[in-house]
Amino acid sequence: MPDAYLDGLGTGTTVLAAELCSARVWERAGGGYRILDRDAVGRCQDLARLLSGEAARVRARIRARDHARAQLMPEMAQAMVVTPPCANCGAPATRIELAGPGELPAQWEQWPRTARDSFLRHRGPGQWYLILDGVATSNGYGDPVAAGEAGRIAQAFRPPLRYDQVVTAGFYDDAGFCQDCDAPYCYRHWHVSETGYGHCPAGHGKSLDPHW
Ligand SMILES: [Zn+2]
Ligand SMILES: [Zn+2]
Repeated sequence: MPDAYLDGLGTGTTVLAAELCSARVWERAGGGYRILDRDAVGRCQDLARLLSGEAARVRARIRARDHARAQLMPEMAQAMVVTPPCANCGAPATRIELAGPGELPAQWEQWPRTARDSFLRHRGPGQWYLILDGVATSNGYGDPVAAGEAGRIAQAFRPPLRYDQVVTAGFYDDAGFCQDCDAPYCYRHWHVSETGYGHCPAGHGKSLDPHW
């Protein structure tokens, strides 16, 4: 570690160098310092390699996810109702329903008259519908979606459900899945705060309400 290099790093390096010497990590050698703790240097290099490998994996995963989110798969569209069970209590964490063209939503019988009228009036021929009850939000009596989007969502929720696949649906709360646990949790077990931020039982954080 040449003196000239340390000087170039700015003030304070002399003090730091003195501290490293007194801790017997460095020692004074002609025109600079010699690093005594080779093991520590090796461990730091190993750690740096590990972290850069991890970063590359995360970047690849994000690219794959963005790619999947952009896919339109009309041929994969199929009617479905999926209720991922909370990993903590088994209650439905969220509810995702796709109703195909000409089909009535599963809970049609419970819908109020006004909601039914509106649904029948606004649905065009060949129109898919997405009814989404998220952890902290809901799209009420549903929104029309294009067949390509319905296909992508159906793909995202084909069993077995797992985070990396569910996330390709592009839902704000990832259908209640925790990225780090790779498991869904219900509203109660996300411990959702007033600002729509949740913590899973393992303490991982996630924003669950896009309106904040
Ligand atoms: Zn729960
Ligand atoms: Zn978690």
